[in-house]
Amino acid sequence: MKYASEAILGAALGAAVDGMIVIDSAGVVQLVNPACERIFGFAASEIVGHNVNMLMPEPYHAEHDRYVQNYLATGARKIIGIGREVKGRRKDGTIFPMDLAVGEARDGDQRFFVGIIRDITARKEADRRMSELQTELTQISRLSDVAEISAALAHDINQPLSAAMSYVQTGVRLIKGNKDPQQTVTLLEKSVAEITHASQVVQRVRSFVGHGAPQRGTANVGTIARETVALLDSMAEQARVRLDASIPIALPEIYADEVQIRQVLFNLARNAIEATKDSSVREVRIEAEHGADGFVIVTVSDTGPGIAESVRTQLFKPFVTTKPGGMGIGLSICRTIVASHGGTIEALPRPAGGTEFRVTLPITATEATHGS
Ligand code: ADP
Repeated sequence: MKYASEAILGAALGAAVDGMIVIDSAGVVQLVNPACERIFGFAASEIVGHNVNMLMPEPYHAEHDRYVQNYLATGARKIIGIGREVKGRRKDGTIFPMDLAVGEARDGDQRFFVGIIRDITARKEADRRMSELQTELTQISRLSDVAEISAALAHDINQPLSAAMSYVQTGVRLIKGNKDPQQTVTLLEKSVAEITHASQVVQRVRSFVGHGAPQRGTANVGTIARETVALLDSMAEQARVRLDASIPIALPEIYADEVQIRQVLFNLARNAIEATKDSSVREVRIEAEHGADGFVIVTVSDTGPGIAESVRTQLFKPFVTTKPGGMGIGLSICRTIVASHGGTIEALPRPAGGTEFRVTLPITATEATHGS
């Protein structure tokens, strides 16, 4: 069958879920199917015979004629045979996202273009909601991380405050006894240093928790690693694990959400401390290097027993845990964050025993980093 009969063509166009629209080389609509009427809210009679740009918001509305002319003159394909996401405008003026694929047909020396339109409002909305939920989940997880190490943090705050209190008390006694004022000044200065220390801990926790809304900018892996070490210092000390970071000064900055990258390093380092606490050698290191292809490679390595066989293949899936009170979401959140930055994360066994988590992060923004 060379040509489908009009009846067959009509049935096909009528049954199609996607909108279909045929225009001539001047952009004038020749034909629309019922799905197209549903999507745009116009009756076919209101569209056919008019310029197709009536279905487009600016800037497409003003520029469409020029797009078509440009294609006819140069043959340079911007959308034909490629397809892309564009915006449509309904009869009621609302603008919506749609996938548009365009094919070209010739009839004698007449040229026509066939557009296939899929309204992706629902998909976009679901994507948006999903990324909103993911952001909320990472935020909740940060709060629960802080809650988990709260005993160690309370110690970090209490200790300098108690020291400051006893300096001040001694200072008060000296003043009452009319003793050497210089000694009192020294005590007060010491107490200021202790209070500053306590307030830095509070500040560190506040920046760890963040504000919720993801925010990307240039970030320094060295700074993030040092802050992570400071946050986990007491926890490591209690577990008698040596925790340190060694990051070269010349490491390029990355384009990232600092709060989220801190969360990744925190999760990896905390897991590493927990895994290492019963080993004979107890060391956790955060290191970084400038990798090839515009990536920074950050590794968190430990001298623990390695990844348990039972979780090895599912490590980054949610709710996978070997810990009695574990939630099993830390690594899955790490993977989500790293992937949304256009990077990768993997766990490798270390030749000398223990595990090395290796994270790559792009130095500049990539496709994936524009998404969320
Ligand atoms: P959770 O810490 O709540 O278990 P995670 O997703 O952070 O959740 O970790 C999942 C599991 O991965 C852990 O229960 C543990 O078995 C394993 N794991 C993670 N990091 C290490 C590590 N450094 N060494 C050994 N096992 C690890």
